[in-house]
Formats: sequence, structure tokens, C-alpha cells
Amino acid sequence: MVNKAVHDELLKKFQAHFGREPEVIAYAPGRIEVLGNHTDYNEGFVFSAAINVGTFFAAAKRDDTTCRLVAGDLMKEVTFDCTGIMPSSEDIWQNYVKGTFAGLTEARPATHGFDGMFFGNVPLGSGLSSSAALEMSTGLALARLYGIEADTVTLARIGQKAEHLYAGCKCGLLDQITSLAGEAGRLVKTDFRSVTYETVPMGEEACFLMCNTHAKHALVDGAYNRLRESCEQAAAHFARVLRHPVQALRDVSMTEWAIYRAGLPTEVADRAAHPIGENERVLRGAELLANGDTAGFGALMFDSHESSRVLFGNSCEELDAVVDAAKKIPGVLGARLSGGGFGGSVVVLVHPRDAETAAAALANTYAARFGSPCDVSVITPAAGARSWHLGVRS
Ligand code: ADP
Ligand code: MG
Repeated sequence: MVNKAVHDELLKKFQAHFGREPEVIAYAPGRIEVLGNHTDYNEGFVFSAAINVGTFFAAAKRDDTTCRLVAGDLMKEVTFDCTGIMPSSEDIWQNYVKGTFAGLTEARPATHGFDGMFFGNVPLGSGLSSSAALEMSTGLALARLYGIEADTVTLARIGQKAEHLYAGCKCGLLDQITSLAGEAGRLVKTDFRSVTYETVPMGEEACFLMCNTHAKHALVDGAYNRLRESCEQAAAHFARVLRHPVQALRDVSMTEWAIYRAGLPTEVADRAAHPIGENERVLRGAELLANGDTAGFGALMFDSHESSRVLFGNSCEELDAVVDAAKKIPGVLGARLSGGGFGGSVVVLVHPRDAETAAAALANTYAARFGSPCDVSVITPAAGARSWHLGVRS
């Protein structure tokens, strides 16, 4: 089992805190975004992967309507009533759980509460999507506990709605879909217009390093939402000037952008060029991977970061420093920021035989510049989320 030590620790903590065993457990991993940045809400394409760290959520039914929820790493408990679920301004981690529970029980309100505890090893706010890992482990565990049927896309949408309405971040569906759909050794390629996905082999000539800069991640404040508004403004412009239908930036090519960008404020035009270029890179990247051209795929990752830095404005000094350092390290094939941006992590594509030396070189170069090293770990594309009754693994 992936992360067995975390699983065992959660069971121990649950038993010690609630004085009983949980009935169900679910596990949901974090994710890396490999190519296709801010394309999900522009109805475009993304390459991503579920990773080998994640969150476990254990739960058992209660006879009354109380929900007791414990964040297992903080050992902090909140209580709420299942008949009146509301977001809270304190202990904001509860909102991801409450929002997911509210979404799951919207059609058939719960008549009894639960004892629940979650515990995981996804670093928070560092671009690996601990929030989706929390939502999807919550969603799978509570769906199983309450006997609610929810397929992958439905569950992903419930998690997304929880982020929108309970955590204040207008994220797309990427994090939730990837957490649910990941497979060991494979990348997830998702089309966010049809919300359909497939997995493709990554090839044995490559693995990933994740470099967590610990620079501040600003997704829950306004920055992410403002970028999204720029994309929407640009899409409305292209819908007016292009002859073919434009529902989202997915429908605009770089050629069309270059011809019609003049009708937009410069900054909005630049912002729009990023997801448009990213969509084209993902489609090209799929061809390269199918032909076994991992180096070509890596070059697209460098282009992606440049586009974030210059056009989208969602990079920062720390992320740029890691990508610049990566370019100079032998064996590194590509590097780019992963996730929303404004800090967090860089994903590096590297030949497995060079992974350890590249990791050390990146940490040292970063430390020489910023005083302390970034955390670098080798990331394996891993299996997606699942749930099971205690003692009956499915
Ligand atoms: P990311 O998803 O990139 O990690 P977010 O800002 O979207 O960053 O989500 C991080 C937030 O999710 C944390 O601030 C916390 O509220 C919540 N969270 C996720 N996992 C946990 C956990 N295991 N324990 C406590 N809070 C968690
Ligand atoms: Mg998040």
C-alpha cells in the first residue's frame, strides 16, 4: 500500500481520539501538473499525474446529527451539525470537508452525522494540491459511508464546488480529476471541454523531481481569480471578432491570437496567450510522447515556464531560479512551475539515472541564492484515489 505508515498512524489516532474503529477509509493523492497551465478552466488540455503522497480520511457513522471532524496532523477538532452545513472563517481546513459533504448530500440530505479524521503527507500550499487530496479523500470516504453513488467526474465537480463556495478559490477541475484518475507510471491527459481523460505511459527514460520553494502560494486570495477574469474577458473579445464560435480560449489558436490581439488591453492579451499556447503545447507533447521523444516533451516544459514568466505573470523569483538552475544541469530534460503559480513548486523532468545528482545540484544552487535549500523529492506517477470498508480492501 502507498503510504502505509500514514494509513496506520491515522487508524491509531482515530481509535485513540474517538475510542472506536472507523468503518471506512479513503485515500486520495496529490498531483503534479506536467504540461498545460491554467488551461482547465479555459476548456483546454492538461497533462498531469497523481503522485505518491496523499491524504487518508477515516470515518464512522454516528446516531445523532453531529459531525465531529479532526485534522489528524494538528489534532484539532471541530463539530458541526449535518442538517445545517456552513463554511467557517476559523480552521479553514474544515471548509474543504464541509463543502464536499454538502455537495455529496445535496440531493439527499444526511440524517445522521459522522466521526471523521484525516491525515496525510502532501505539503500544504506548495502546488501539489493538498486541497484536492483532502476533498477527494473526504468525498470517497463519505460516499462509501453514506452509500452515495458518485462517478469520477461527479465527485471531482463536488470537490471543485467545495473550493469555489467554501474555500473561495475558483479552481478548475484538474486537481480533483487527476487525484481520482491517476495510474502508476502514467500521465493523465484530460480534455476539460468534454471532461474526459485517458492515461498514457510516461516512458522509462524519465522521472520527475518536485522542487518545493516554500515561496508563498496565493491561490485563496484574489490573484488566481483575477487571471481567470482576464481569460474570460479575452475569450469574449475573440468570440466577437472571430467567425467561428468561441466558447473559451480553447477555441482560439496562436495564429488568431496574433492577428486579433490588438483589440485587447496589452496585459489581457498577454494573459490569454498563455493558456492558448499551453493548449498547443499539450497536443504537440502528446505526439512527442507517443513517438518516445521525451527530450522534445521536456523542451515544451521549458517553453511553458517561459510563457508563465513572461505572459501570464504567475511565476516568481524563486520558481524562475529553480528553472534557470535546472537548464544548466546535465540530464534535465525540462522544468516548469506546476499548479497555480505565485510560489509553490517546480516540476523537473529528468532521466532517472541523473535524478539524485540533479536533485542535490538544484537544492545547493537554490541555497546559495536564497540562504536555505528548496525541498527536492523524486516523484513517481502513482495510482489514483480509492476507498474501502475497514478490513475489506477494494
Ligand atoms: P494546495 O492545494 O496547493 O496544497 P491550497 O491553498 O489550495 O494549496 O490548499 C491548502 C489548504 O488545504 C490548507 O491551507 C488547509 O486549509 C487545507 N488542507 C489540505 N490538507 C490538509 C491537511 N492534511 N491538514 C490540514 N489542512 C489541510
Ligand atoms: Mg489547492
